[in-house]
Amino acid sequence: MIRAELILDGIAELATLRSGPVPRVGPAMEELDRVEDAALAVDAGRFVFVGRRRNLAREVRLRPGGRRLSASGGVVVPGFVDPHTHLLFAGDRSGEAAEKARGASYADIAAHGGGLLATVRATRRASDRELLAGATARLARMRAWGTAAAEVKSGYALTHAGELRLLRLIAPLARRARMPLVATYLGGHAVPPEFSGRADDYIDELVRRSLPAVRRENLAAYCDVFCEPGYFTVEQSARLLRAAAQLGFGLKVHGDEFVYSSGARLAAELGARSAEHLLETGPQDHALLARSGVTAVLAPVTALASNLKRASPGRALVDAGVPVALATDLSPNSWVEGLPVVLAHGVYSAHLTPAEALTAATVNAAHAIGLEESAGVIAVGRRADASLFDVPTLAHIAYRVGTIPSLVLRQGIVDFSR
Ligand code: ZN
Repeated sequence: MIRAELILDGIAELATLRSGPVPRVGPAMEELDRVEDAALAVDAGRFVFVGRRRNLAREVRLRPGGRRLSASGGVVVPGFVDPHTHLLFAGDRSGEAAEKARGASYADIAAHGGGLLATVRATRRASDRELLAGATARLARMRAWGTAAAEVKSGYALTHAGELRLLRLIAPLARRARMPLVATYLGGHAVPPEFSGRADDYIDELVRRSLPAVRRENLAAYCDVFCEPGYFTVEQSARLLRAAAQLGFGLKVHGDEFVYSSGARLAAELGARSAEHLLETGPQDHALLARSGVTAVLAPVTALASNLKRASPGRALVDAGVPVALATDLSPNSWVEGLPVVLAHGVYSAHLTPAEALTAATVNAAHAIGLEESAGVIAVGRRADASLFDVPTLAHIAYRVGTIPSLVLRQGIVDFSR
């Protein structure tokens, strides 16, 4: 008999995503491993039973003092994984929303001191305490939306010491939020004012000084770079990423977001774990990504928030056989904390099916940040992260825009319920 501290039954439809290849590509992105009329049991923070409700009574006994909850006919999915966030920043850029409404582009806003460098100024001025408080509050709201693990990029200090300071805050944040956070070094987010017109010198500093220091302290698993005109060229991005690969970092590329930058090509050539944004990519790039197994991380809300004309090419990427993941890209430019909103945009602007969108925010997102062994699926022995939605079928989660979970289980504990 299996002993459990918590039982959740009465689940109309459960998406486990527990079998099949990781990451999922092509038609496999539709396979959610559904169980109808399902139940879950949890003990010591892990799933101990996942299956049909009719087998529960025979196989599972609740421990004395344990809890039994009813899903009341709702649906359950794995805890979401957010594979691209700029969680650590100070201040906000709410004033830019009105400028964008009047047609200002990301570049227009940057040209008069707004945008990314405004956040850099605010982040440099902020104390550790302020940064931790802001990020902790954002993480609490992410959890309420069902996020169980996330990536966190540095990139709003753009000095050697400042970037190390941001990365050092990620482990304390993960402990406070009791959530796995994967750190990505993004010193190559933009050329800082101190290096204005000298991007090559800045890349030199990152390669010679910052990357080795980040490695020595083991502060990040991945190295990312903003490969776009006005930020870093393909050559500069390649130099940074090659140095990072030699030091053992996994690689990520922000590319082809505003204009075609060959960022996806670079990611494919270097065997990066992921290429991110990709709005301006075309069929040849998609074929390259598919052949090299690079995961495409799409941020469909950012495309809207940045006033971009194109939408995330979700449909084309899935059809080309590229593993696709969805992310919030939480930042002061596109302040979105919850993945359900992104799932809906994944459907309505990136043209994924609701099932593909769920795969993109669970198993494929976990793979995009190296958490495929621990996150993104519901299976016996796995960490008990799951969300219950009061909707009749799984498709409703992405079909409705921004539906909030009614119950979030994180590491076997009820983290949020309403
Ligand atoms: Zn980003």
